[in-house]
Amino acid sequence: MGSVSTAKFCKHKTCPSAEMLISYTRATLAREVRQQLTAHLDACDFCDAELYLLSKFPPTGATVCPSVKIPFALYRLAKDLLSVSTSAAGRAVEILYERDRLSLTDA
Ligand SMILES: [Zn+2]
Repeated sequence: MGSVSTAKFCKHKTCPSAEMLISYTRATLAREVRQQLTAHLDACDFCDAELYLLSKFPPTGATVCPSVKIPFALYRLAKDLLSVSTSAAGRAVEILYERDRLSLTDA
């Protein structure tokens, strides 16, 4: 049994987004765009497979998370960390890392 290359089985820059493919399944695209997408799907195995997946398991929606106000203390900490020079921040991270370093015996 020979091996099959998967090097070309991936999303490319010219591939439509998943949202576009969802629109394709719902037939909400303009005729010209739909024709272009059909031509792409005929030539691109990855998008064809993605379209099949999206048609079998459509997104359930409500993927947008509500925004939450950041607690003031966390905001201040982030602001302080970001305002520190990168070398000082790097040292702080190293100190914290060394202090809380896990070992194999911790697992
Ligand atoms: Zn594609």
